[in-house]
Amino acid sequence: MFMLHRVRPRSDAPFQPNGHLEVTPEFLDAVLTHLKEQRIEVISLSDAAARMRGEGSGSGRFAVLTFDDGYRDNLDHALPILQKHRAPATVYVCSGMIDGTANCWWLLLERAIAENKAVDLDILGHRYTCDCADERSKNRAFSRLLLALRSAPVDEQRRVSAELCQRYGLDMALMLKAEMLDWQGVRDLATSGLVTVSGHSRTHASLAGLSASLCREEIVGGCADIEQQTGQRVVDFAYPFGRNRNFGRREMAFVRQAGLQTAVSSKPGFMRSGETDLLAIPRISLNGHYQSIAYVDVLLSGLPAACARLTFASLR
Ligand SMILES: [Zn+2]
Repeated sequence: MFMLHRVRPRSDAPFQPNGHLEVTPEFLDAVLTHLKEQRIEVISLSDAAARMRGEGSGSGRFAVLTFDDGYRDNLDHALPILQKHRAPATVYVCSGMIDGTANCWWLLLERAIAENKAVDLDILGHRYTCDCADERSKNRAFSRLLLALRSAPVDEQRRVSAELCQRYGLDMALMLKAEMLDWQGVRDLATSGLVTVSGHSRTHASLAGLSASLCREEIVGGCADIEQQTGQRVVDFAYPFGRNRNFGRREMAFVRQAGLQTAVSSKPGFMRSGETDLLAIPRISLNGHYQSIAYVDVLLSGLPAACARLTFASLR
């Protein structure tokens, strides 16, 4: 299963710390052509789930395309390519990113660093003073602040976001409006005949850091928002951030209790018939820094996923 986020023409901005999360429409087109040549069938997530349960009718190698968060470019740039190849896909929509209420601190961080020569920030009582004068120092500042913020409690992430907005003149809701789909766009995807719109929480918080009631609210509420807007039942979910530190048994139990049928992680790996836990399906990230078909072949060989699993195992 492939994990993508954004699909849009290449930007020549020198500082793109989230560049790994976007590919060009031409690359998506080339990947789909390549999969066809390799006789790898692109199927819907529901068909893949049936095959993984041993109920599916098809045989042979298959792939599923997934896009996270609900970026506007999924409609503008990805859908035309999907239509050209008649390739189904799942788009995991974070409802708060659509209505402008989610706290996307990593986007604020990117913007503050991009637009300023220095960034000062308090995180959990520690003062970070980061030089951001050139591309190299901007990247270093982003890595340093990302590391500090991603493990901070949700309340602290909200406070830091508010500080970033106030200090550097940023507006989260406006930024999301510019980047994300609106609800009409979500409905356009849902009625395209190719895209299944699925849940990705309400605020994109790391679920493992939330109380049980808030965690349930994120899972159930995010799916309910989409159902209300599209009129379509939601049965699939993607854990925000999707790594070991972001979800575990408790979150998987809540997903099951919510009646959802599949949930995907961001951990690297392949779907296997009869083997894959449908509430923690691994994915292969189509990384924007490696937009070549040769690299896709390396990904399909399973080598990077195997190496990543070995690394995780040795870190545990
Ligand atoms: Zn996400």
